[in-house]
Amino acid sequence: MALLEGLASIHPDIHTREYWEYCGKKELRFQKCGGCGAFRFPPLTGCRECGSTDVSWVAVAGRGRVFSYTVVHHPAIPEVREHVPYPVVVVEFDDAPGVRLISNVLDISYDEVEIGMELDLVWDEPSPGVVLPRFKKV
Ligand SMILES: [Zn+2]
Repeated sequence: MALLEGLASIHPDIHTREYWEYCGKKELRFQKCGGCGAFRFPPLTGCRECGSTDVSWVAVAGRGRVFSYTVVHHPAIPEVREHVPYPVVVVEFDDAPGVRLISNVLDISYDEVEIGMELDLVWDEPSPGVVLPRFKKV
């Protein structure tokens, strides 16, 4: 059974709705400011750099690398007991500088994850209609 299979749910708000709609179409897109060109994530109405509300949603290729990570040892909910320990990674992208996405690396042991490890995007659907960007080691 995959991590959070049957348990994952998303609760979009006014800022994140578009992000999750793109994920549902298996498109990883991040906001890019029309004023200064800065990427931002999580999604916000205005740019943190220049204040502009002019924004476009730019697709990334899906190649990233581990910026940082942690390893979950304690099963916060009983349903993940069989999965601990598992890594949680912070992913950065060459084609969206400044974006750091928290996700998981699939099919890897927690002790194989390293900072700088190259990752490829994979789309995971742990619950019906819940499409999450997750990663595999290149
Ligand atoms: Zn800006």
